[in-house]
Amino acid sequence: MTAPLFDTIAVIGLGLIGSSIARAARAQGAARRIVGTARSPQTRRRVVELGIADQVVESNAAAVEGADLVIVCIPVGACGAVAKEIGSHLAPGAIVSDVGSVKGSVMRDMGPHLPKNVHFVPAHPVAGTEYSGPDAGFAELFVNRWCILTPPEGADAKAVDKLAAFWRLLGANVEIMTAEHHDLVLAITSHLPHLIAYTIVGTADELQTVTRSEVLKFSAGGFRDFTRIAASDPTMWRDVFLANKDAVLEMLGRFNEDVSALTKAIRRGDGEALYEHFTRTRDIRRGIIEAGQETDEPDFGRRHGHED
Ligand code: NAP
Repeated sequence: MTAPLFDTIAVIGLGLIGSSIARAARAQGAARRIVGTARSPQTRRRVVELGIADQVVESNAAAVEGADLVIVCIPVGACGAVAKEIGSHLAPGAIVSDVGSVKGSVMRDMGPHLPKNVHFVPAHPVAGTEYSGPDAGFAELFVNRWCILTPPEGADAKAVDKLAAFWRLLGANVEIMTAEHHDLVLAITSHLPHLIAYTIVGTADELQTVTRSEVLKFSAGGFRDFTRIAASDPTMWRDVFLANKDAVLEMLGRFNEDVSALTKAIRRGDGEALYEHFTRTRDIRRGIIEAGQETDEPDFGRRHGHED
């Protein structure tokens, strides 16, 4: 048995991501002790029942006392206030990280509240589901998924390496980039798709000529996959769009131009333009499957007669 990477990991926020980290860290023996906390007594109670942390405490400040790794797993809009709460309670030399889906705003909001003698290394595990809360988490969530680290300039290389080793132990592949680049990449790969899903599901809901029961009945025609994404947590996604405003608006502008081009092709009956576009996008899907980030089973691997 090798020694655990950390003595004490503090996980602040024990929803889908925080509880998955706690479960995976324990399964891999990443720490001697895992301390957790959540905002509400209900979540804290549930985490005790589930037994996924060694200790559950009532406050963020109490959770970080003596921890050599602190991971903040809460909506990005709340990260600044939590950093302010924990700042003066952090152990010297501790690594402080997060899992937020936007990195520029987290660095801006958390950075100023953290003392100079800790190592701040923001992170984003690009893994998730549309479910929330401590029951939704599972230890294998990060296996073969990417975790992006966005260390600020001049960050301690040893601290970055240690956090990378932690994520690899949880099964993730690690990539390092600037927060700014992260926010641009995720704006197109994650944030815009969520916005499109939220839009189309809302549009269908408001139709007068097609009934809601027809939409549900015939949803396998494509709509069903949008509804899964559009079921994602409203607080988390409100915060993502507010925090990554510029990058999302940039991608949305490009998207609107491309929708206009396709609109024009349909209006003109330009089959060649449509065919060319759809052939190009099909190749992108094949590339994602080859990269191991999706199944090539028909219907996204859903078993016959079983709805996930
Ligand atoms: P979640 O399941 O809703 O859990 C959020 C946790 O944060 C809960 O324990 C909640 O406590 C706590 N919390 C909420 N608001 C808070 C506040 N104002 N102050 C302190 N704690 C607060 O959310 P999640 O899916 O794990 O997401 C957490 C973070 O991971 C977000 O920043 C998100 O951007 C990022 N992320 C999410 C995904 C995904 O697919 N879901 C993927 C990658 C990264 P209570 O339960 O007591 O309310």
